[in-house]
Amino acid sequence: TVRTRIAPSPTGDPHVGTAYIALFNLAFARQHGGQFLLRIEDTDQTRSTAESEQAILDSLRWLGLEWDEGPDVGGDHGPYRQSERMDIYKQYADQLIEKGHAFYCFATSEELDEMRREQQARGETPKYDGRGLKLTEAEVQAKLAAGEPYVVRMKIPEEGVCQVDDMLRGQIDIDWAQVDMQVLLKADGMPTYHLANVVDDHLMGITHVIRGEEWINSAPKHLKLYEYFGWEAPVLCHLPLLRNPDKSKLSKRKNPTSILYYQKAGYLPEAVLNYLGRMGWSMPDEREKFTLAEMQEHFDINRVSLGGPIFDVEKLSWLNGLWIRENLDTEALADRLGEWMLNRDNLLKVLPHAQQRMETLGDFIPLVAFLASGQLPLTEADFAANKLELDEQKQLLQFALWRLEALRSWERDEIFNALKELSGQMGIKLKDFLAPIFVAIAGTTASFSVMDSMTLLGPDMSRTRLRQAIN
Ligand code: ATP
Ligand code: GLU
Repeated sequence: TVRTRIAPSPTGDPHVGTAYIALFNLAFARQHGGQFLLRIEDTDQTRSTAESEQAILDSLRWLGLEWDEGPDVGGDHGPYRQSERMDIYKQYADQLIEKGHAFYCFATSEELDEMRREQQARGETPKYDGRGLKLTEAEVQAKLAAGEPYVVRMKIPEEGVCQVDDMLRGQIDIDWAQVDMQVLLKADGMPTYHLANVVDDHLMGITHVIRGEEWINSAPKHLKLYEYFGWEAPVLCHLPLLRNPDKSKLSKRKNPTSILYYQKAGYLPEAVLNYLGRMGWSMPDEREKFTLAEMQEHFDINRVSLGGPIFDVEKLSWLNGLWIRENLDTEALADRLGEWMLNRDNLLKVLPHAQQRMETLGDFIPLVAFLASGQLPLTEADFAANKLELDEQKQLLQFALWRLEALRSWERDEIFNALKELSGQMGIKLKDFLAPIFVAIAGTTASFSVMDSMTLLGPDMSRTRLRQAIN
């Protein structure tokens, strides 16, 4: 049976690109009566967070995507979180070393930096030079016995061509000379993406790997690993990446990329999913509006077009409007508004900040309007009343954004401390420093305290507002 998977790394906000790839994997699996899995690739322990993992699960589920196996629903091939599978990877790395397909490398990062500098000085593209392979067995054993740090690297053929068969692209030839002797186990004993991904796809019975085209260059390493292990490789399919309207790769600088932004901004999950289904794909009858069930019924991966699909927020808004007008009666729309924001739980979160500023109940809606909108209609005039010059304000917003992007959790005190520290480092009085942030977040300085507003808006919407104010 067909088994597909989505394998997100929990290192940031849940990306619309992840949902797009997940949707196509799900549609492909369902259409073949197969299964769709979710695996968390959190081997990069410094960048992975539990919050990000939870946000990915929540936002994919909000969209209506369901997986048959995963860290939260279980299954027969678990655990589905790579950080819980460390023993497995070590064991398979050892197996490759025993069979002579992988080797120890004891080079320090200084040695490797020097190697790269020399290669660059000779006009070559920097590449690992295979120095670990030159050690004798006795030298290796001596270094291991002495406890020298090492990584494990895979062997790569010195010449020839690797043929990658891609479901959509046909045969892609990649010269082995371009492929690095990939690190499989890092010095801290952690596997790299490449080792963990191949081992897990095999052990989890994945038959079709459908992922973004940024992984094509990794395919030779993966195919070689399957061969070394003596496993049958899955069918590979690389989908085109989403693009900004200017055709560049979709980036948060130019477009909100977090699924949670779209949720907060009041998009309907079925409309977002519908729009993602139109990224490089269309229904046989070209209809614009379709449900997940309809997509699954008619899905044909061979009809994916390779031209970069453009993720255009205006088109999405238009489609969302169709869903609101044509698919919801007023009763259903009232329910949706309640589920989205206008419910008691949410009111109880917001009211403590609004209450002191209210003379009548009617003051409430204008006070909180900024919490419910997507992009604020800001112009330079909105920043004019602030003390600093406009370009200083924009620079400050950029620095603040970088600080806030680096926060690992979104707590009021943590946000405040980060911004206070930055204002000190920039030598700007806190009040003047916060004013442009205030405007970017709430559209005016006459609103809730900016820390409260950011806490209520959450990280995705807050960062997006800062980006929109800078652009
Ligand atoms: P980058 O670092 O390249 O600017 P990003 O920071 O916006 O991208 P990542 O954190 O690298 O996003 O990726 C998160 C997930 O989203 C990954 O699984 C990646 O494959 C996917 N992704 C990122 N950009 C795109 C895109 N343009 N189209 C489809 N999927 C994407
Ligand atoms: N963890 C990888 C990612 O975040 C998975 C890539 C793959 O599907 O092989 O995109």
